[in-house]
Amino acid sequence: MFSDTFPLKINTIVPLNIDTVRSDFPILSSEIHGKPLIYFDNAATTQKPQQVIDAISDYYLHHNSNVHRGVHKLSRQATISFEETRKKLAAFLNAAHDHEIIFTRGTTEAINLVAYTFGESTIREGDEVIVSSLEHHSNLVPWQQLCIRKNAHLRVIPIFDNGELDMEAYTAMLNERTRLVAVNHISNSLGTINPVKEITRMAHEHGAAVIIDGAQALSHGPVDVQDIDCDFYAFSAHKMYGPMGIGGLYGKESRLENMPPFHYGGEMIETVSFEKTVFNKLPYKFEAGTPNVADAIGFGAAVDYISRLGWEFIREQESKLLNYGTQQLSAIEGLKIIGTAPHKASIVSFLPANIHFYDAGMVIDQYSIAVRTGNHCTQPLMARLGIQGTIRASFSFYNTTAEIDKLVEAVLKVKELFA
Ligand code: PLP
Repeated sequence: MFSDTFPLKINTIVPLNIDTVRSDFPILSSEIHGKPLIYFDNAATTQKPQQVIDAISDYYLHHNSNVHRGVHKLSRQATISFEETRKKLAAFLNAAHDHEIIFTRGTTEAINLVAYTFGESTIREGDEVIVSSLEHHSNLVPWQQLCIRKNAHLRVIPIFDNGELDMEAYTAMLNERTRLVAVNHISNSLGTINPVKEITRMAHEHGAAVIIDGAQALSHGPVDVQDIDCDFYAFSAHKMYGPMGIGGLYGKESRLENMPPFHYGGEMIETVSFEKTVFNKLPYKFEAGTPNVADAIGFGAAVDYISRLGWEFIREQESKLLNYGTQQLSAIEGLKIIGTAPHKASIVSFLPANIHFYDAGMVIDQYSIAVRTGNHCTQPLMARLGIQGTIRASFSFYNTTAEIDKLVEAVLKVKELFA
């Protein structure tokens, strides 16, 4: 569940109109196969508003310079804008300190950072790491490989058929050997919203650390890392209306202080001699090399954009789309919705009876509708569900019910063609 206690960000003064909001996203007025684009692949990556595109091009047009090292004006400007995004992210996640936000290339790199620093220095032979059956490969393979390297055990929280975590099984799994629990906040394949606060509380009772994969969560509702009390929270800008190639890791100060660096080189040092290096303070200890300044600035613009829309508008739109999409698709004879947990984000995975998802995807594409087909980087989850993949429609606040009607029309055509 999202943090309801967290204040909704700057709410809009003017009531939002969906057409105005859509006009912020230039790509939404484009055509594919001669028809207006319908973009339902938001869980893979969201589209970018003009404000984000402008922030990136403004940096390259007027402020391009390397950060932290220069006394000249451009460098100081670039540094201020770059660090401004860190501050915005700290406020967005309600982190206790700005230096608890580390820039990474995205969620995958953030999780690897924790695996190679906290994981390598903490996990010992015989220890246990818990993941869930819902994990994206990005929050599974790093822990699986760490366990192999360390001769530790990877344990997996099972799910019910509706895609909900079996919390009783999780309770039974926790013990004095549990060192780390790694779960996603929202499942990218099924949309399940996981009880991350409860998961964290229970892990902490057993002295285990918790990393939350927040890749799918930060675009859908307020997240308060202090309220959740997790040790780490990983995220990607490109799933939050921001640019690709940048994301971040929130880490509790006390954890980050005690972890060794991830990458070595410039920026992450305080002093260097041929014999010895003193590492930089947080957050720079974890940010070796020239960072992705332009996209960090674009990320800041994306956070501003979400804040300007406000969670009230986003949640209202997305829950309307989730309910309508689920209803309309379920009404198609023989179609099965995969993932029906009571708490879900605006992701609808489905399978029409006896039709391969790739065949369906090809036809749906002809309607100029972008949906994702396949295993969504969750092969073990698909194996658990006894399927190879799904068709996934993931809705954003800029989608409409009229677009869902078009998807239904396309799926009916699929049925007709492959009957
Ligand atoms: N975790 C989840 C739940 C995801 O949905 C994704 C991407 O789809 C990732 C991790 C990986 O994110 P990235 O490719 O931005 O590192």
